[in-house]
Amino acid sequence: MAKRPHQVEHVAPGVARLGDESVNFYLVEAPEGLVLVDAGLPGHRGQAEAHLARDGRTFADVKAVLLTHGHPDHTGLAATAQDAGADIWIHEADAPILADGPRSAMRHAKPERPMISYVLRRPSAFAGPLHMARLGGFTAGPVTGVRTFDAEQRLDAVPGRPQVVPLPGHTPGAVAYHFPDLGVLFTGDALVTRDGLTGHKGPCLVARGFTHDTAAALASLDRLDTLPAATVLPGHGPAFPDGPTAATDQARKYGLH
Ligand SMILES: [Zn+2]
Ligand SMILES: [Zn+2]
Repeated sequence: MAKRPHQVEHVAPGVARLGDESVNFYLVEAPEGLVLVDAGLPGHRGQAEAHLARDGRTFADVKAVLLTHGHPDHTGLAATAQDAGADIWIHEADAPILADGPRSAMRHAKPERPMISYVLRRPSAFAGPLHMARLGGFTAGPVTGVRTFDAEQRLDAVPGRPQVVPLPGHTPGAVAYHFPDLGVLFTGDALVTRDGLTGHKGPCLVARGFTHDTAAALASLDRLDTLPAATVLPGHGPAFPDGPTAATDQARKYGLH
């Protein structure tokens, strides 16, 4: 059964949540221009184009795509945006996943546990990968010519001047992007509010079946605690309005799975 396209949701002033029940990506309207945070799946192209078109815009108006990591459910429209003129940003540790294509993700950021162990316990755990395949997640082409960073920094060239916060663990190059002026913090899969493998709802780390190094991911939560209050906008699951410290607290309590 194909999932219906999910309605675009306004999750903060100037921030729209795109994607569907399984996968989030976001359009940020900063005063200097449009930014995508993550790039969904290739099958989300129509939704993104329709949303942009409501205000008479196209992918050519997107100045930058900020990728939280290299997993293919977050990079699907990066090539589309790049072809239209956007800069693609990613941590240099995850750039090889983009360059080598979606199927290289398991090689560059091998998960700690096989996904099958989750599916055997809970067959609906397979819905996420199936959804990814249906929306072209495993067949997107490689993306090269990207802009990279390797440490915490402010991206002055990007509308909204977001702060990059490295949060290694889920993948080696996982990061968050903090837009202080908008009061939003995009955590990608370093901290999510829904986990497809376990079915957990609420702030948590992604299960070991999709995480490269959960000990590192857990340690990265400490860095989130030092950030100011902001709405947490994760790669999977709904917005969490109560700020990063409350989110990491719940994630630690839930623990590693
Ligand atoms: Zn991921
Ligand atoms: Zn993800």
